[in-house]
Amino acid sequence: MEPLLGKELSELEQVLGPTEPRFRARQVYSALYQQRVSDLVNISTLPEPLRAGLARDHEVGMPTVDRCFHSTDGTKRYLLRLDDGRTVETVFMPEETRDTVCISSQVGCPVDCKFCMTALMGLERNLTAGEIVGQVLYVAKDNGIQVESQQLNIVMMGMGEPLLNLPNVLKATRILCDPKGVGLSERRITLSTSGIIPKMAELGAAPVRPKLAISLNASTEEQRQELMPITRKWHLKDLIAACRAYPLRNWEKLTFEYVLLRGANDSDADARRVVKLLANLNAKVNLIALNPGPGIPFETPDPARVASFQEIVKRAMPCFIRKPRGLDIFAACGQLKRNS
Ligand code: SAH
Ligand code: SF4
Repeated sequence: MEPLLGKELSELEQVLGPTEPRFRARQVYSALYQQRVSDLVNISTLPEPLRAGLARDHEVGMPTVDRCFHSTDGTKRYLLRLDDGRTVETVFMPEETRDTVCISSQVGCPVDCKFCMTALMGLERNLTAGEIVGQVLYVAKDNGIQVESQQLNIVMMGMGEPLLNLPNVLKATRILCDPKGVGLSERRITLSTSGIIPKMAELGAAPVRPKLAISLNASTEEQRQELMPITRKWHLKDLIAACRAYPLRNWEKLTFEYVLLRGANDSDADARRVVKLLANLNAKVNLIALNPGPGIPFETPDPARVASFQEIVKRAMPCFIRKPRGLDIFAACGQLKRNS
């Protein structure tokens, strides 16, 4: 059975074939992304024989839930089951003024960051565009969220390195941001990368794209190479040059994420070097105190250390401390490893 979720209008036209009028594809598109039918036989706008014919070889392709963990802070961590039986993590974080869904872009991750539990899995495979969109639709449905009218934010900060699956990530973004599709705003989707430099330019050239966040996590080339071995290939100095060249939209800032590791990258001198590195960039910084986990050889810094780091960066640019969500259910940043 071929899933339809993840197909754009032109692909749906192909699925329906040249004998069907083109508005039929638009009806299917709208049924998938706006009405969000759970079964193709429920597409009531289609004539009965067409519906049945479509359902014979195709399915919607929504993920199913394997497990769902509830945190005391309202966060929910979903283990969603894909067509091939693999599972992927999606996290729902409700807040008073807005809700955020953290989605995955790959099963596992090939980037070997030393502080991240997803790294311990290695890469199993890329997600399809349909599997990326499906995570958003599943969580929206499960929590009764009206995607278009409610303030839903999407962060591509779950499992995986989104820039190593860029075609599918961009395709999913087009569907999510299409007013005739899921109907989210580009301003509400953020992609976070460990710094795959050549792919950053490709992202910047895409007409419809998420906002860009970069996981900096170190203040020197040497330190970054130790914490994020990918830096041996994609150097910090070239990463900063790529950030300088990045075509920001007039409403956009670059976000830099910085995981604070006790005694490794959390000193005042580190903070001052971060300020220097990011000077003259239209940037803001999000600090994340390490969320510890089994197999991670680092400790989280004291709150006073985090505050001191923030104080220094804040003098130069906006700098926030990201508060961990769902720590008790292993849903926080860097903790996604399918543990139950
Ligand atoms: N692969 C992408 C997106 C997923 S990771 C990236 O690395 O940017 C999302 C964020 O979680 C990154 O900023 C990463 O640095 C951070 N992170 C990873 N492990 C963490 C941990 N154990 N504690 C806190 N943050 C962590
Ligand atoms: Fe992959 Fe991001 Fe984890 Fe690094 S921090 S291993 S890039 S998921």
